[in-house]
Amino acid sequence: MSAPALLETKGLTKSFGNVKAVRDVDLSIPRGSTFGLVGESGSGKSTVARLVLRLIEPTSGEIRFGETDLRALKGDKLRRQRRKMQMIFQDPFGSLNLRMTVGETLTEPQSVHGLGRNDAERRARGEALLAEVGLPAAAMDRFPHEFSGGQRQRIAIARALATEPELIVADEPVSALDVSVQAQILNLMRDMQAEHGTTMLFISHDLRVVQYMCDQIAVMYLGEIMERGPRHRIYEMPQHPYTQALLSSVPGSPKEDGKRAKLKGEIPSAHSVPSGCAFRTRCPHAFDRCKVEVPVMHQLGEGQEAACHLLDR
Ligand code: SF4
Repeated sequence: MSAPALLETKGLTKSFGNVKAVRDVDLSIPRGSTFGLVGESGSGKSTVARLVLRLIEPTSGEIRFGETDLRALKGDKLRRQRRKMQMIFQDPFGSLNLRMTVGETLTEPQSVHGLGRNDAERRARGEALLAEVGLPAAAMDRFPHEFSGGQRQRIAIARALATEPELIVADEPVSALDVSVQAQILNLMRDMQAEHGTTMLFISHDLRVVQYMCDQIAVMYLGEIMERGPRHRIYEMPQHPYTQALLSSVPGSPKEDGKRAKLKGEIPSAHSVPSGCAFRTRCPHAFDRCKVEVPVMHQLGEGQEAACHLLDR
């Protein structure tokens, strides 16, 4: 039995005008686990990240954090809740305040949330966080531009940890970094997760990264979940044609056997989501029914589910 969910969404939907960027997304992330949300750019993954942190408001649906109904929180209660939920962004340069020293970056969130008894304690905790992410205490008095991209992402991770969060949402945290640095940052995030027992929603377009990091995986396409399940089921026996095509596109993957169709063409715009199955315009197996009927989720065992009419057969 898996641990109870720390984060749960039901029917999560977000429209921007007539565009439904996220449609009916159900997620359940067990406490202490790392959950991967994967898909191409334009699939709605980052919108889900912002919705679950209430950085943007859902159009409809539920978001629960433990026992708390997140959508019902306002003002002070929402601010207090934010301490428990932190985000790591793709571009640490964009997400760090360039006019603040690293010390200020690490002590400010503690002050805002009333952590530490005084400045000295908060500074000591800042230094301890730096040590945890592999940076010297002397970094406290320097500015973000004095560091490399990988070091800046270490600072962003230290900042995320500063409020002792229960949930970290990491949105493409290594895709802006040099390949040589990516593995170091991923290892750091894994160590951090093991050490603190933090629950993580890990968002990436890169299936190799998600495979390395995540216990459970959901595959998104045009705002919907196409398939989800435990890592070994998704990688060893993907059932949705989109998941299969994504895996075939990964160089060196065991699924890159040349037999499966690779993913062709571009993801359609969220302004013109195809009728029926959203994936049908790129699916090598599409047939008449796919045009008119939205496929339902099929339960495939061990928590794996996929939405495709082929699974009716
Ligand atoms: Fe392809 Fe049809 Fe399955 Fe959609 S429902 S993935 S179009 S076969």
